[in-house]
Amino acid sequence: MRSALNTIQWCPGCGDFLALMAIRNTLKKLNISRENTVIVSGVGCSGKISQYIDGYAAETLHGRSVPFALGVKLANPKLTVIAIGGDGDGYGIGLGHFLHACRRNVDITYIVLDNENYALTTGQSSPTTPLGIKTKSEPQGSITPPLDPIAAAKLFGAGFAEAVVDRDMAALSSTIERAILHPGFAHIRVHQACPSWKIW
Ligand code: SF4
Repeated sequence: MRSALNTIQWCPGCGDFLALMAIRNTLKKLNISRENTVIVSGVGCSGKISQYIDGYAAETLHGRSVPFALGVKLANPKLTVIAIGGDGDGYGIGLGHFLHACRRNVDITYIVLDNENYALTTGQSSPTTPLGIKTKSEPQGSITPPLDPIAAAKLFGAGFAEAVVDRDMAALSSTIERAILHPGFAHIRVHQACPSWKIW
């Protein structure tokens, strides 16, 4: 358990601020104490979010937040466990963990803050970069059709898989609330603004 929250380090206008606010407000609304809250994040801009929410926290290896979170939940099913990361972290490096978590249906919430690029490393293509978009790693434009993570989650058996836009705070908060209350694996794809690198 941390004694104080770290200073937030995101760019002005980053959609991660909205997700942070929605998660904090929802935990408060549901009366989930800091002793029963576990935030597990991966690596990336959004991976820093575990430093900013009051409760137990783990900032894990790149793409490995989901198996870590599953282990926490299996060890103590009373805890509210939320795994959070970006699209590169969860839909690229950690894709196998994500899909098998959909099959296993352990009761955690997995939120992906999807800005359609690897932002912490200054704007390379990720699995959700739209076709034709020019990035640092694909200066001629992306040639690979983007992953549809909600369709993939449903295909692998997820009972809760929804997409929402960060700036719609009411929808974002209610989706997070329903995901936490869902009795099984719940996935949320948050379409997230990244004014520094997502300029499409
Ligand atoms: S680079 Fe993008 S995702 Fe990262 S903190 Fe800045 S605005 Fe947010």
